[in-house]
Parts: sequence; C-alpha cells; structure tokens
Amino acid sequence: MSENASAAPAAPTPVETVIIGAGPVGLFQIFELGLLGISAHIIDSLPQAGGQCTELYPDKPIYDIPALPICGAQELIDRLLEQAKPFHATFHLGQEVTELQRQEDGKFLVATATGTRLLAGAVVIAAGVGSFQPRRLALPGVEALEGKSVHYRVKSAADFHGRDLVICGGGDSALDWTVALCENARSLTLLHRRAEFRAAPATVARMRELVNSGKMRVLEGNAAALRKNADETLAGLDVRTADGRDLHVPADRVLAFYGLHPKLGPIAEWGMELEKRALKVDTEKFQTSVPGIFAIGDINTYPGKKKLILSGFHEAALTAFAIQHHLFPEKRQFLQYTTTSPIMQKRLGVAEADAHSGGT
Ligand SMILES: Cc1cc2nc3c(=O)[nH]c(=O)nc-3n(C[C@H](O)[C@H](O)[C@H](O)COP(=O)(O)OP(=O)(O)OC[C@H]3O[C@@H](n4cnc5c(N)ncnc54)[C@H](O)[C@@H]3O)c2cc1C
Repeated sequence: MSENASAAPAAPTPVETVIIGAGPVGLFQIFELGLLGISAHIIDSLPQAGGQCTELYPDKPIYDIPALPICGAQELIDRLLEQAKPFHATFHLGQEVTELQRQEDGKFLVATATGTRLLAGAVVIAAGVGSFQPRRLALPGVEALEGKSVHYRVKSAADFHGRDLVICGGGDSALDWTVALCENARSLTLLHRRAEFRAAPATVARMRELVNSGKMRVLEGNAAALRKNADETLAGLDVRTADGRDLHVPADRVLAFYGLHPKLGPIAEWGMELEKRALKVDTEKFQTSVPGIFAIGDINTYPGKKKLILSGFHEAALTAFAIQHHLFPEKRQFLQYTTTSPIMQKRLGVAEADAHSGGT
C-alpha cells in the first residue's frame, strides 16, 4: 500500500442516525427512534454513558421524573439503558465528535478524535453543556509531555508498571488508581492539596494501609513545576507542601485526576445558529438551522426552554417523528401506542408480530 493510501481516512460506515451525547436525553432518543424502527449509533467523549447524572451527581436523588417519585441519578441512567436495550444501539464511548459535515447528498459525515467515521441520514446533538474534558495539570511545559509521561486517564494499567509514579488528586479516580497501581509501580506518591479525600472511605483506608506498610507515600501540597531531563523527558515534579516546604519528587509518570469540565468545543464550529452558546431549534421538530441536524436536551434553546431532564425527554419524542419524516418523507406518519401497537411491541421484544405490518 502506498504511503498516501495508508494515510487516507477509512470510508465512513453508513448508518441511519447518529446521536452525539449519551446523557439521559441522548439515551432516551435511542428509545424513541427505536419505537419508530430507526436504529442509532451514539457517541460520547466520556468512557461511560450518563452525562451530567453520572459524572456530576450519581448518588443524588432526583424528584421530578414523572412516575418516579425518587430516583438516584445513576439509577435513572441504568433504567434508561435498560429501556433502550431492545434497540441495540451501537455505543462509541471515550470518543469526542470533532467533525460534523453535511455532504452533497444531504447525509452527514460524523468523525471522532479516535478515528470513528460514520455517514448518517440524520444527526441528533444531545451534547448537554458540552463534552467533558479532564482538567489539565496547569504547569508550564506540560503540553509536550501530555500523552507521553503526563496522563489524565489510564488507558492501560501496564503503562504505569515499574514506573516512578505521582498521582495528583483526592477524589475517587485518584484513590482508585493509587490502590490499583501501587503494587506494580516502582514508587508511588499521592499528591493532594489537603489532608481530606473525597473518595470511598474503604479506598482511603486501603491507601493508608499501603502508606503504613511503606509501599507508597502521600504528600499534602500542590504541584509547582515540572522538571525535565536533558532529553526533555520527565524527571519529576517540584512540590510546594501545605506546610510550606519545597520538595522535588522524582517521577517518570504523572497521573492527574483533577476532575472534568464541560467544553462546547467543536459544536460551535459546525455552522449551526447559536444563541448564548446553545443551538437554536424550532419547537415542532427540534431541528437546528441545518435541516437533518436536530438538537435536544441542555444543548438547545427556544422560547421558554427549561434545562430539565423531562423537557429533554419530550424533545426526544418529537425529534424521533421529525427524523422519521426526514429519512422517509414518503411514509405516512401515524401515532401508535406501545400498549396496543403490535409492531412496537415486536420492536420492544415483548410480543410476537409481523415486523413488516406497519410502523415506519
Ligand atoms: C447537581 C445537578 C443536579 C441536577 N438535578 C436535576 C433534577 O433534579 N432534575 C432535572 O430535571 N435536572 C437536573 N439537573 C440537570 C440535568 O442533569 C440536565 O438537564 C441533564 O443532564 C441534561 O441531559 P443531556 O442529555 O441534555 O446532557 P448531559 O447530561 O450534559 O450529557 C451530554 C453528554 O454529551 C457529551 N458530549 C458533549 N459534546 C460532545 C462531543 N463533541 N462529542 C462526544 N460527546 C459529547 C458529554 O460528554 C455528555 O456526556 C441537575 C444538574 C446538576 C449539575
């Protein structure tokens, strides 16, 4: 194969619809499309589905989901995943959508940072407050080391085996990885700005045991500077401790878990009309200024918009009908009830029926 040929991106996979964002509203969109016999690929930059519910408040109870007087945020996501199961959506997690381009034939090329390329008949943007990005280690010169010796996520635990490792942060991710990597690291220092940790008590207790048995150390303080070797590889971190000492911690790997922040990112560059960093839509179809691209949930705006999960669910239902019309304009649309529709029950896997007897 020539060099040029190997550099060319792979031909995109044709799909019916793509949903960008696997928060509660994107997940319900799978269900609403599925009821109408339309399949979906769903993409999220996070490694798991759930959006804000899972990332920001998994253990908090939600009280305003219809017919669920109280429901944990993670429980809501688990229920939405369960409800969407019969429709076998393809999940592409841990991938930020970086490109969305309308093609001459009216289809949409959707491409992710990790190389997934899909060609969709319609796109639903359910991107919430934007794609969650890790907060970076704010030290001069860090860019050159990111992805090499400074990481914000563990792709393979083996990359940290036999290393002098510094883990920064005091939440669940920092503590979970401290405990998981400690036995195989050459040395491990956990650096956190204060003495209290926001992680599961059992994991904090296990970390303290590892400290007491001399297998790692914990430092209270902040990273102040990166030190590099002559060949520009990482030599270690300068640390200012909470009690005012300046220390040097030799390290060839740093894992920083400072949490995530949302970034509207590439969505702002895809040519759709925006108002106050939200996508303008109509309230009949929830279509953006680009026909065939719809926006639902926290990412959209229209007169009277309320950023509530239940508003997003309603938007997903009407968007599904609009997409059905967009993809199959010749088909007559009629409303069916899941209670009585054999075709919907067949799709849901709850009844035997002739799948070709109606529907889309
Ligand atoms: C503390 C807290 C409590 C709340 N309590 C309630 C409540 O009680 N009731 C209620 O109704 N609402 C509540 N909300 C609001 C509710 O969580 C949001 O309205 C809801 O999460 C919006 O869902 P969504 O699917 O539109 O977006 P999100 O949940 O924000 O999900 C969007 C997803 O899209 C992904 N994404 C964005 N851009 C890209 C991209 N370019 N590529 C790939 N993926 C991308 C993101 O990573 C994210 O996972 C609360 C919010 C917070 C923070």
